[in-house]
Amino acid sequence: MADMSHGICFLVGAGPGDPLLLTLKARECIQRADVLIYDYLCNPEILKWARKDVEKIYAGKKAGAHTLKQDEINDLIVQKTRAGKTVTRLKGGDPFLFGRGGEEAEALVQAGCRFEVVPGVTSAIGGPAYAGIPVTHRAHNTMLTIFTGHEDPTKSETSLDYKAIASAPGTKVMLMGIERLSIISQGMMKAGMDASTPVALVRWATTGRQQTLTGTVGDIATKAEAAAFKAPAVAVFGDVVALRDKLNWFESKPLFGKRIAVTRTRQQAGDLVQRLRELGADAFEMPTIRIEPAPNKREFYETVAYSHGYEWIIFTSPNGVDAFFGVFYELYKDARSLGAARIAAIGPATAERVRSYRFAVDVQPEKYVAEEILKALQKETSLENVKVLLARAEGARDVLPVELEKLGAIVDETIAYRTVPETEDASGGIERYRAEGADMVTFTSSSTAENFHALGLPAHEGVRFASIGPVTSKTMQSLKMPVDVEAPVHDIPGLVASILQFYGKP
Ligand code: SAH
Repeated sequence: MADMSHGICFLVGAGPGDPLLLTLKARECIQRADVLIYDYLCNPEILKWARKDVEKIYAGKKAGAHTLKQDEINDLIVQKTRAGKTVTRLKGGDPFLFGRGGEEAEALVQAGCRFEVVPGVTSAIGGPAYAGIPVTHRAHNTMLTIFTGHEDPTKSETSLDYKAIASAPGTKVMLMGIERLSIISQGMMKAGMDASTPVALVRWATTGRQQTLTGTVGDIATKAEAAAFKAPAVAVFGDVVALRDKLNWFESKPLFGKRIAVTRTRQQAGDLVQRLRELGADAFEMPTIRIEPAPNKREFYETVAYSHGYEWIIFTSPNGVDAFFGVFYELYKDARSLGAARIAAIGPATAERVRSYRFAVDVQPEKYVAEEILKALQKETSLENVKVLLARAEGARDVLPVELEKLGAIVDETIAYRTVPETEDASGGIERYRAEGADMVTFTSSSTAENFHALGLPAHEGVRFASIGPVTSKTMQSLKMPVDVEAPVHDIPGLVASILQFYGKP
């Protein structure tokens, strides 16, 4: 089926790190790709936007690992494009700024392949911006020089024109070469740059692990060595560095510098991660569980088909709501097919999910405590001979149906979904936790705690565990996991608020 004329390669800028800094077109190219070829500086999180059957090829370098040489990468891109594939070649920052994107484009042209370039937010400008440094400012400069501190290793002569760089007016931004900072700063001073010129180094810019070090051309190399400041980093030279004192918006966020692992299903982790990141945390997904459809599909479909025959339908989690209405709208075209069934939703997130399907929630007990649920229902009706449907997860606790039956209700339980351990570490979060640990790990259900525990990850010193509520906490305690934070309001905003409070940032 391979058809050469249909192959296309997109040379795409993946931005400096923050996944939200990708362009809409970059995201579209990831979604469309048959083949994704990515680099060390591409945030692996963006790969989750790809199709399930995409071919992912890592072409970057990482300490010790084998690297594809540039001509091998060129060949690979050409070969895949020629085979009729949609190839998305992701590069950190902007593909045409020190990214060798130009060479790849030339190779494609030479091979007669179609290609497009998708510019990206470069670390040369976006990196300083996240450190509170505008690379130009009307009061300071009218020029910006971007240069690489990494020289072509095949050249014997130094190719850095210190004279030209040092004598150029305005801001200078250096990419790469951070490990040669001592030689470079000396070269600049020799070429006439004032030793007191302000310098900022920004490492892993725009991500939660951003670090910034400031100094002058005279002392920055010594400071960097003392702080073991390593690549990847951009260096900014010039008066604009001083603006950081006023404009340091990112690093002053309340949770900046806190590394927080979020254990949820991959589909759900995003919301919590997003909220923590907005507060500056270095939050990352560590999916431990995955939602799967009801194991007994036929039974579940039949129950949903007859749901109008119940007087009450009780939902205990947003997943249960999604599973139920997913099937409901597969079976029926009309929302009124639910008949007169009334709906109870436990917890605000569950209620919200019910409303998202345009159904009102008749009763909304705050907590998953059988007694409270019964009280809330009884306020509405007697439960004597009332038909109740409970749609929930496989293996859920069974106190609720027992208590309902004691009050005379006729209870049918149906398993709407089940949670299974996530075996794929698509975003690299589990690996990251194994290697670096975290300041905090969050748990939003008993099953996240159980499955985290089952992963048998190393116990990192000082790591704190945060729980969404008493049921989850109880599970954690039974697994001998400490509960350092327990959210008094058992939903995502409640958990976030209690994490802020824990760190003394109400
Ligand atoms: N095309 C890229 C640059 C590639 S060269 C761009 O436009 O950003 C690789 C260099 O980019 C690194 O050595 C480092 O100097 C810089 N860099 C890329 N991402 C960075 C980040 N998140 N933080 C700091 N520097 C980064």
